[in-house]
Amino acid sequence: MINRQRLVDEFISLVKIDSLSRQERKMADALLKKLRDMGYEPYEDDAGTKIGGNAGNVVCHIKGEKDKPALLLMAHMDTVVPGISKNPIIDGDIIKTDGTTILGGDDFAGIAVILETVRSLKEDGTPFGDLYIAFTVCEEGGLYGARNLDLSKIPADFAFIFDEGGPIGQIAVKAPYYNRFEVIFHGRAAHAGVEPEKGLSAIMLASKAISDMPYFGRIDEESTSNIGIINGGGARNIVTENCRIEGEVRSISEEKINRYTDAILNHLKTVTESLGGSVQINLERMYPGFNISETDEIIGLLKDASNASGIPLKLEATGGGSDTNIINGAGIPAVNVSVGMENVHSKNEFIRISNLEKACHFLTAIIKAAYKR
Ligand SMILES: [Zn+2]
Repeated sequence: MINRQRLVDEFISLVKIDSLSRQERKMADALLKKLRDMGYEPYEDDAGTKIGGNAGNVVCHIKGEKDKPALLLMAHMDTVVPGISKNPIIDGDIIKTDGTTILGGDDFAGIAVILETVRSLKEDGTPFGDLYIAFTVCEEGGLYGARNLDLSKIPADFAFIFDEGGPIGQIAVKAPYYNRFEVIFHGRAAHAGVEPEKGLSAIMLASKAISDMPYFGRIDEESTSNIGIINGGGARNIVTENCRIEGEVRSISEEKINRYTDAILNHLKTVTESLGGSVQINLERMYPGFNISETDEIIGLLKDASNASGIPLKLEATGGGSDTNIINGAGIPAVNVSVGMENVHSKNEFIRISNLEKACHFLTAIIKAAYKR
């Protein structure tokens, strides 16, 4: 049985732990202990050393019955700022903070739901297939924990990441590919008052190139782009030599993100060169997207869980990235399941206890549905 009080106590105990990105040491230790106390043999991988953090991903294999689908259950251990000395307050059905920090329901809610569900399955003697738990580091910083997770040790058939908001039953089945780019516009420095004709302003180059840039903002229903940072120049009386911008392109479609990104960067280059300047372009695919179709087996499994639990499914596209992108990119079908977190990344973040509990029932139904396959 899902134990509401135990679930709340666990969530509160997690919220009280400071666990910013790359500083998840205390959280990793607490989770290793919790899993050992439950009788399992968790391990911590070397992701921390690779990414300059003080803790690695916490992974645990819970042996189940053979010949049943194996499931990977994931949540991330890090939070955004301000996330130090969080003071959780229970107010009826709601858990919030004193308003000076985030709550960390993103993503301690996912961790608490996974732990409580696994505990209750064991107590009830419910049969299940192999389960793998992965609590990742540095998701908020750019999915770095998941990127360094050794999936050769996690032979899962399906993955469920518990890192979404919305009503329980809301599942992200589509998310965009993500490109980030940096463009440095190079002009020529000169004294702005004495001989400006010898100079070529990088600020002018950047502004002309950006002003009629194709594909800015909402491009189509599944694609967006943005320039979020611009800086350059050193003094008012110097014709600016360099100006730097940072931007992004997202699309559910891989073909489109490639096409739009090429068009944007080509435009910036062509305009700048036509004005006598030059550009240096750095482009990085931060993570792949995913697009699970209605006919995929993981959706069938979710429908079974929905029918058994009476929790309606709401399949959605999300505009953000999560560990789900990395796991799908590695070839394991993965979806991002809501645990009911609200107003995340803000001091007004809260979560309903009834939703935490419902998320445990939904996960229980998923595990049971997988066992029946
Ligand atoms: Zn999250």
